[in-house]
Amino acid sequence: MVPELADPAPTVPAHLAGAADLARAAAVETADGDAAQVGAPVAVRAEDVPDAATHYFAADKPGYRGWYWAVTVAGPEFDVNVSEVVLLPGPESVVAPTWVPWNERLRAEDLGPGDLLPVEDGDERLVPAHASLDPDDEDEGEASEPGPGVREVGDELGMGRPRVMSREGRLDAAVRWSDGDFGPGADMARAASAHCGTCGFYLPVAGSLRAAFGVCGNGNVPADGHVVHAEYGCGGHSELQIDSGAVVAVADLVYDDGVEMEPETAGSGG
Ligand code: SF4
Repeated sequence: MVPELADPAPTVPAHLAGAADLARAAAVETADGDAAQVGAPVAVRAEDVPDAATHYFAADKPGYRGWYWAVTVAGPEFDVNVSEVVLLPGPESVVAPTWVPWNERLRAEDLGPGDLLPVEDGDERLVPAHASLDPDDEDEGEASEPGPGVREVGDELGMGRPRVMSREGRLDAAVRWSDGDFGPGADMARAASAHCGTCGFYLPVAGSLRAAFGVCGNGNVPADGHVVHAEYGCGGHSELQIDSGAVVAVADLVYDDGVEMEPETAGSGG
């Protein structure tokens, strides 16, 4: 942000502070000689190097509302020169958004049929299968059995996948799924009277995420086929019982079929 003209600037050498006309002339020259584009002086600020200071002028340049001319002058007394003339945005200027690398801008729904999305070499979500032993996993399970982590690694090696998800990758997925449409905080879950963890349609995932996530297998609900949190829930829970009996007593039906109907004969009408 450009400092206000009223800011005390005791460190600006007098011969540089007095070079305002030189700085203005340089700004006008950069503005193709149009003096109207160089407005009132705004500030003078010393630079981090000796014998250098920058004069700021309001930029009355079409399309540059809120910008400033910044003219840096430098040199010893009696030998001051212009070093640089640039336009700088002020706090109210319209500027382009901060550039974000494409791989950070990409959203899951951007990937279309036929698109390729290779992972980077150092992607921390993946580790070599033989390195995926997770100390936390090894603590799980019964003492007489190998922990799920050990079994997982064996499976992974048997399937020949060179890399599997790292601990960081799994935690990242767990947070994403928990915060997503099928996590405990979703509107559907908060309105549900029972959760997925107790539902017969809940298919727990394998591995270290088993305690918290499964796949919904109820084809009649929106979560069908999605990874759901054990504390998600919906109205399709397998154990929900709805009393569908009548709320008002209904008398037994009586079929009044004892009335004999005589067929109409010709001329019997009227
Ligand atoms: S039917 Fe509902 S409660 Fe049951 S697993 Fe699916 S989403 Fe969860």
